[in-house]
Amino acid sequence: MQATRAIIHLENLRRNIEAARKQIGPHPKICMPVKAGAYGHGAVPVSRFALESGVEYLGVSSVMEGAELRSGGINAPVMVFAQALGDELPLIAQLDLIPFVSDADFIVMAAAAAEEAKKTITVHLKVDTGMGRMGCHPNEAASLAAKIVSSNRLKLGGVATHLAVSDSTDSGDIAYTKKQLNVFRECLSSIKNSGIDPGLAHAANSGGLAFHEDSYFDMIRPGIFLYGYSPAKEGGLTALPLMELQSAVVFMRNVKKGEAISYGRTWTAPKDTCIGVIPAGYADGFTRGLSNNHSILIRGKAYPLAGRICMDQCMVDLGPNPEVERWDKAVIFGPGFLNAADVAAKLNTIPYEITCNINKRVLREYTNK
Ligand SMILES: *Cc1c(COP(=O)(O)O)cnc(C)c1O
Repeated sequence: MQATRAIIHLENLRRNIEAARKQIGPHPKICMPVKAGAYGHGAVPVSRFALESGVEYLGVSSVMEGAELRSGGINAPVMVFAQALGDELPLIAQLDLIPFVSDADFIVMAAAAAEEAKKTITVHLKVDTGMGRMGCHPNEAASLAAKIVSSNRLKLGGVATHLAVSDSTDSGDIAYTKKQLNVFRECLSSIKNSGIDPGLAHAANSGGLAFHEDSYFDMIRPGIFLYGYSPAKEGGLTALPLMELQSAVVFMRNVKKGEAISYGRTWTAPKDTCIGVIPAGYADGFTRGLSNNHSILIRGKAYPLAGRICMDQCMVDLGPNPEVERWDKAVIFGPGFLNAADVAAKLNTIPYEITCNINKRVLREYTNK
């Protein structure tokens, strides 16, 4: 069994789902975004567990990610958030994926592909209320909804929008989110007023879940919250991190005061000490920017990195008379220690990027206790 592994704490996922459910009440459904390999946690095992724990929908970014879920035996509704290509529509029909649609051209293409496949494609209409990414203009929503329902091969399963600053507690950002939600409500009314059932209305990401009760509608789509990171530094709901990046001390050596460690000689021993070698590096997603700026937890104690993180290995300063023994477990980040959000803060980024960057060669191991 290789040393470097990402332990995924499914018991924390269950608790995060329960916390979301408690917050939103019984009516809204929960869609769990599992794009990018479930934010690096492993799409199929995470999806399977989430569905067993009360999640009703899954969200992916691409058709290929949807296909991965289907070949993993997952039959739940799967939405494809990002714009699909026209030539992916036959696979969408075959796999019963639910694409987001934002424009008339793609609706026509989807209807034609559904006709060709002799299947119904359920689509969700995406409205841009202020994110500036995918979605139709709000005043086109009713006519596009009409276009969808005019095809007997398409079904309007829902209407969605995405919030740009719902995770911010800044008053201007809160007002912006309220404005987005107002525009979205007006779209829903315009669709209903033209006699069309909009299906599931959904808008909330993790920020919406944590800070905007009026964003819940019929379904929420919280990603980062379910993976265990609160959407804002302060306030809102608390979540328990799922991912623990673990390795081991595989080699130990004594060095004399003044000896240099690793590429670039950025660290020299301030006194005689013992150095431990850990087989995890930036190719695993243990970002090189953390060189000389992170600690590793071994036997309950944090030891500082010594020198640059290499592609496949890094070194720690274990001190002159180490309590550490060769083959000891070494935690790089995880719940109960520095977690992915703490690591992200040091690197001036977001926890999403930290967990997504954990490379495929790192084994995922699932625990539930
Ligand atoms: C990724 C994504 C989400 C989840 O966002 P979080 O910030 O992780 O909660 C929700 N909706 C869409 C359309 C997304 O692409």
